[in-house]
This record gives sequence, C-alpha cells and structure tokens, in this order.
Amino acid sequence: MEDSFRCVVCGNPLANKTKLSARYCDRGCRNKAIDLRRRQETLRRRNENERVLQEFSMWMAGFQLDLLRMAPAEAGGYRLGLWTGQMMYWFPSLLPSQVYRQTLHRTRTQDPFFSLHPFEPPIVPLVAHYKVQFVQNIPPHPDLPESDKAWWLKVPYALPHRRLPFNLKAVPREKR
Ligand SMILES: [Zn+2]
Repeated sequence: MEDSFRCVVCGNPLANKTKLSARYCDRGCRNKAIDLRRRQETLRRRNENERVLQEFSMWMAGFQLDLLRMAPAEAGGYRLGLWTGQMMYWFPSLLPSQVYRQTLHRTRTQDPFFSLHPFEPPIVPLVAHYKVQFVQNIPPHPDLPESDKAWWLKVPYALPHRRLPFNLKAVPREKR
C-alpha cells in the first residue's frame, strides 16, 4: 500500500508527520489538483453539450420547425415551463445574482429566454414535458398571449443545472 503514502499529484513520498488522510505533499500540489479537477469539469461540461447537440440534432431540427410554425410573427424567443408540483418554473433560469447564462453552444448571453432567430436549442435539467411560452422580440421581451391552446412538449435530454430553487424529484410523474 505504498501508493497511499505518496502525493497523488507529483508522486513524492509524503512526510511522516502528515496526516494519514493527506493526499498531497504540499499546498502547491493541492492547488494543482483543484485546478485539474476544475479543468476536467469544464471539459466534461463541454463534452456533454457536444454530445447532446449531436445525439439530438434531429429532434432539435424538428423542434425548431414546430417553433417557427407556432410562433406569432412578433415573437423573438421562447421559454420552457416545468411544473414543479407547486409552481411553473421557467427556463432558461437566470438567478437574481446572475447576469449571464451559457447557451448549449457555449456562448454567453444575457437573454432570459431562448432565442428564435437564430434558433437556440433549450437547456433543461430534466427529461420532462415543458410548456412553451413565446416572448416578444422587443425589449423587455414580455410574454406573448397564448394562441388557441397551450403547447406542451417533451424535451428528450437533460443537462445539469446548478442551484435550482426546487427539488427535481418533486416534479410529478405525469410531467415526465
Ligand atoms: Zn506533491
């Protein structure tokens, strides 16, 4: 079990006086490990976005066509509502402290809605049925009134979201 007494970053033996739980020889190696994990996380997210864009490209193309067919002429974007069991929670979600959000194509935007022109594929945290809401193309982009009937659709992929103000597990089964 000699490995457990070596720094996991540089491989140097750990000094005898370090704690048994220690994994790094010094602060420098520990910071390096944190940095590495962060980079891996960024890479993982990028790969995850890429995977979704490829795997669901046909679904996205179909959804784009449906959106354009359903959208009123003055629509500039759309939002997707998830019924949490208690309220409708809208995506994209921008927390009060958050100025920018990232799109599936990894660009940064301040828009609190997904863009119609150019088409921005949605990012949602759960494979579920979402209510489609169009917003006007002119700031401050108010919601447009519903057309003849409400439109719900199932998004077949999910991407992790940080800090949602509700429990995803509480979303009723009939919405999945
Ligand atoms: Zn080290």
